[in-house]
Amino acid sequence: MIKEFFRKRSIHACVVNTGGCNGCDIEILTLIASRYDIEQYGIYIHNNPREADLLIVTGPVTLPWKDRLKELYEKTPEPKVVIAVGACALSCGIFKEGHVCGPVDRIIPVDGVIPGCPPRPAQIIEAILKVVPTSIAEREKVIKEEISQ
Ligand code: SF4
Repeated sequence: MIKEFFRKRSIHACVVNTGGCNGCDIEILTLIASRYDIEQYGIYIHNNPREADLLIVTGPVTLPWKDRLKELYEKTPEPKVVIAVGACALSCGIFKEGHVCGPVDRIIPVDGVIPGCPPRPAQIIEAILKVVPTSIAEREKVIKEEISQ
């Protein structure tokens, strides 16, 4: 119970741009500024996958990013959550005809999606607060079951 409470107020995120146009990343950056002040919701962006609970992935996954994205996913400790942000991350968007190997869910497991090109900052905050605590609790349950077997 206490753990769940603190989980909601302490979400550490790492943002990964896998080759998008930076539009989504600019929207994510505005979350840190005073207008949205994402830290008031207990969400901290520090871009170290080894300390992250959440990977926020943007872009269509260009060829050089395929292995790097898998590496970053492996470096992120369990229980972890992945949210794909923007049309490119969800379906390769305007880069569909280019040299891409996405979308993101073809490379790593995705727990939540935020559509839009780019999505609004408020949508991103709402999705993180909705998806992360429940997904982390579910993953913890699965890990505990695996350990007890
Ligand atoms: S979804 Fe739109 S804004 Fe985001 S990276 Fe793709 S093209 Fe850029």
